[in-house]
Amino acid sequence: HAPGGTLLECEDVTKLFGGLRALGGISLSVRRGEILALVGPNGSGKSTLINMISGHFPMTSGSIRLDGQSLETLEPHRVAARGIARTYQIPRLFEHMTVLENVQLCAAFGQDVKALNAADSALHWLDFMGLAEKAHELPASLNLHERKFVEFARALAAKPKLLLLDEVLCGLTPTEVDQAIDLIRRIRAAGTTIVFVEHVMRAVVALADRVAVLDQGRLLALGQPEATMQDPKVIDVYLGA
Ligand code: ADP
Ligand code: MG
Repeated sequence: HAPGGTLLECEDVTKLFGGLRALGGISLSVRRGEILALVGPNGSGKSTLINMISGHFPMTSGSIRLDGQSLETLEPHRVAARGIARTYQIPRLFEHMTVLENVQLCAAFGQDVKALNAADSALHWLDFMGLAEKAHELPASLNLHERKFVEFARALAAKPKLLLLDEVLCGLTPTEVDQAIDLIRRIRAAGTTIVFVEHVMRAVVALADRVAVLDQGRLLALGQPEATMQDPKVIDVYLGA
């Protein structure tokens, strides 16, 4: 597959929760090697779109393709095996396992697991996230930033083609945000395509090639970060929220 070609295609993705239309027909595609930011007010459907892509919830209608292959009937572990990894807005770690075991579990989904020992791979990604010294601790001893970075390491250990990040920077200090921005740049430089949901605008502008703005389950705007965030209809949605 050529760099810059389409990796992910969402077509008319719709999600109803009972009578609530969380997503009302989202169509967008993500190019290989791109960083796409998903922004929008609370409740606009950002996490729901991530959940549709990762197979966490079934769509009501529409289609999602990775490398031209449909993902829509796949369960989350099958989507993961196709090369999509994610983090959650609220980190989900197995509390009875060590940090290393948490990461190792997902290194087992990695495509070259046969070549690499899963523990070595897990340690590599913990080290990459600056958490090697926490490897043998339980998640309970970690602060929010560390928990988020363990979840991040866990997603990376699966060696995804596409990494989905849901508000990984929320609640971090400015220094931790800078560190995370640098890590995300390095992950992309290593060839991973990234879709990230973020409220920290400085990170959106620093990282994103394009920004998709959601409002009430609809795609309000899509384009270059600076121009898109200055679009009057985008400003309206933020001021009106
Ligand atoms: P965002 O991530 O942009 O803040 P969400 O995707 O979490 O927004 O939510 C979009 C809408 O869908 C909201 O109105 C939210 O209350 C609703 N919603 C999200 N998840 C569920 C769910 N599991 N069950 C019912 N409603 C949900
Ligand atoms: Mg959300």
